[in-house]
Amino acid sequence: MLLGQAIGDALGVPYEFKSPITAGEARMIGGGLGPYSPGEWSDDTQMAICIAQVAATGADLSAYDGLNEIAKRFCEWRFRGASDIGHQTAAVISRADLMIGGAAMDASMSRYDLDNWAPAFQQAATEYAEQHPRSAGNEALMRNGIVGLTRLEDRQATAASARAVAALTHADPLVAASCVLHAEAVRIAVTKARLDIRAGIDLLADDEREQWSAWIDEAERNDPKSFKDNGFTVTALQAAWSAIFHTMPEDPRPDLVNDALQLAISIGHDTDTVAAIAGALLGARYGVSGLRHDWRRQVHGWPHMRGRDLIELALRTVGASGDDEWPARDYEDRSGTAVEVRVPWAPELTIGTQAALATTPATAVVSLSRVGRAEVRDPERHVQAWLVDSDEPATHNNLAFALHDAVDAVQDLLDAGESVFLHCVHAHHRTPSVALLHAVKYGGLSAQDAAAAIRMALGDNKISGLLWATALEEADIHAR
Ligand SMILES: [Mg+2]
Repeated sequence: MLLGQAIGDALGVPYEFKSPITAGEARMIGGGLGPYSPGEWSDDTQMAICIAQVAATGADLSAYDGLNEIAKRFCEWRFRGASDIGHQTAAVISRADLMIGGAAMDASMSRYDLDNWAPAFQQAATEYAEQHPRSAGNEALMRNGIVGLTRLEDRQATAASARAVAALTHADPLVAASCVLHAEAVRIAVTKARLDIRAGIDLLADDEREQWSAWIDEAERNDPKSFKDNGFTVTALQAAWSAIFHTMPEDPRPDLVNDALQLAISIGHDTDTVAAIAGALLGARYGVSGLRHDWRRQVHGWPHMRGRDLIELALRTVGASGDDEWPARDYEDRSGTAVEVRVPWAPELTIGTQAALATTPATAVVSLSRVGRAEVRDPERHVQAWLVDSDEPATHNNLAFALHDAVDAVQDLLDAGESVFLHCVHAHHRTPSVALLHAVKYGGLSAQDAAAAIRMALGDNKISGLLWATALEEADIHAR
């Protein structure tokens, strides 16, 4: 979810408030309001990280302590990290900071030691809404996806958190409703593997449901490009959903993520925010293995984070990771024999086992198994694939896509002039399967010759299983 949001954000950044793209695809070329470096995310994901750092502690985001901590982080971010910021958010945080700053001077203590941040934010947000007729901007929705991961088993609690976190900067009920729908859609995408923006309609107030149903109908009926005026929370959600809905095929497939994000950005105006809102939903549905390797490798941003850090924050938020577990720990399983061997179809490619990772002379690495933080020498030249070593089809999101993506990652690095080491733990399943598809797709070998070359290189005549069978099938499709 967080990685999907960051990717949408960084893809949309170069095109924010410019003429919409009419030809070609959006690329992570940087620029925009920061200006940002290529692959760098903007305020949308920066604010989402402030929330995620609190969510990852297990805090209840609808309760005082959790909200207080988020408000404090928003303020620290605004004065110490923000590379750009929306008008409403800036106004509300500055006002809240003034209130707190006054209190701090009276009490002669650091304002960050105080614990009344949340009420100051809520008051500033309410005052802003009273003074401005258009106070339902999209800046709460753009950071909202992480809320959908905080209480995966409890939709009411998820909705309550979405309302409470939104209200820190936005008092307009339309903002709260848009965040409830978006957070519930993220929760449903993760727990039920389905993209459904209507899933939370019943969580809205009685007098809100009909209007929001009509707005969603409109997003599905109309051309996504008709939602160009998307600084408003309603049209921002419509734009994001319209882009997803109009690329949604009969059979779900992860390359939908690219199609939907491209469409979202082609709408124009607040491109990074619309793509961040859509990316959160797409990431929640398809997971890391549905997101392209080049994007995963490129994204980064405040506060000195990369894709792997976002994965860690998201996993901690759902309680699926701790200090002594991947991805936090420094080393993964390095037991077994160190194997690194050449392959005949690509002179700069070697394949092997995790134990050889420490000694490989290759300048770039594609890891098909989990690697520790200390094992990543250069994140821009180290692709970490999310590929499960399992013969059970249900454990894979879309195995064919993940295999092709790993193969394309190898080739992209070779094309960039790198020497590449492709590995998993023991090189029994994942490595030979990806190597086979690479040999056929880019090495010009037949599947039979590729299989023979890999068996000989690894000295293993017993390669089999679901990954190998899928690679053979994909090689066959490619050859035809
Ligand atoms: Mg932005």
